[in-house]
Amino acid sequence: MESILQNLLEVAASPAKEVTDWKQMTGGKVVGWLPIYVPEEIIHAAGALPVSLWGGSTEIARADAHLQGFACSVVRAVLEYGLKGTYSMVDGFIFPSTCDHIQNTADIWAGLFPHRPKFDLVYPANRQSQAARGYLEHLFAGLVQWLEELTGQKVTEDKLRGSIRIYNQYRALIAELYSLRSRRPESLSGPEMGQIIKASFFLEKAEFNRRLSELLPWLEKRKVRPAPRVRLVVTGIMAEPVEVLAILDELGGAVVADDLALGARILRAPVKEELPPLAALADRHLRLGPCSTLYDCRKGRGAHLQQLVAEHAADGVLFLNMKFCELEEFDYPVLKAELEEAGIPLLFLEVEQQMSALGQVRTRLQAFLEVLEQGVVS
Ligand code: SF4
Repeated sequence: MESILQNLLEVAASPAKEVTDWKQMTGGKVVGWLPIYVPEEIIHAAGALPVSLWGGSTEIARADAHLQGFACSVVRAVLEYGLKGTYSMVDGFIFPSTCDHIQNTADIWAGLFPHRPKFDLVYPANRQSQAARGYLEHLFAGLVQWLEELTGQKVTEDKLRGSIRIYNQYRALIAELYSLRSRRPESLSGPEMGQIIKASFFLEKAEFNRRLSELLPWLEKRKVRPAPRVRLVVTGIMAEPVEVLAILDELGGAVVADDLALGARILRAPVKEELPPLAALADRHLRLGPCSTLYDCRKGRGAHLQQLVAEHAADGVLFLNMKFCELEEFDYPVLKAELEEAGIPLLFLEVEQQMSALGQVRTRLQAFLEVLEQGVVS
């Protein structure tokens, strides 16, 4: 079991090897998708390997010549990897209309790499509109067509149903892992938990499901650290750099639940298998939320965080703000007021994927944890 876990950690640390191996073994196409919501099931049904392109901790040398200094670190890293050839094994790219930063990057990408296949997944701005459901089905049908051309494989209804089943199993297994993290946080270190989730975005899902199914019973008995003195809910786009989670562990804290885009937000809401596949995927998108990247005038993110705190007996909330992510910054004042009213302690920490000096992060986390341990609500 230790070797399965180590392998998942290696996949998360250097996914290119795993993806290249898959491609050589199967002869299939690799489709990269940018944050946040992409119906991976359709890519899977086309016989391709969906891989997430969520940036990383690379030095930015070339991307700054194309992107403004206030572009977030995620898109800067994606462009940097593109320019230095890290994505050479990726056959097609999907850019969802998540935020201005990704939409701008999609345009720059088209100019820099005009011959690399790309699909713009332009979501409805208002999911409450009556037209949204039909529009989404039409959008996903366009994605099916693009993938059929890219892979040369027909995406049949049966294949879609099979992929939806595999992805629903994946979400159910991740839910079990999340439950374990809350019940027995001593089973896994913070970085291990984050890296298992990350590995799942590079492995073929049926294979990932097989590995996680084997791992879960073993993790139930594993103990790698003492029970945490402080239990936190983390919210934001992603818990990176992963060293932040290691610092939290060292300080005696633990994440017991999350509301991360690269985490619970994209992993909740199973697809309804009783509906026709594209209608079911559209329906799931309409049920997603609350999320900073999805318009909703009654978002209720503060209420959602309060619920997570109560369900997981957490002591406070950590808001990890990806620098220059204006969508998260728009949500923050509202959820801060909601959490203050509920008496739930909250820490705002700004992070960047390429950040190396974490001294200030450590100091602020330490102070927050000390306050929580003393039971003083700020
Ligand atoms: S971190 Fe925010 S701004 Fe950057 S890509 Fe994600 S949603 Fe967009």
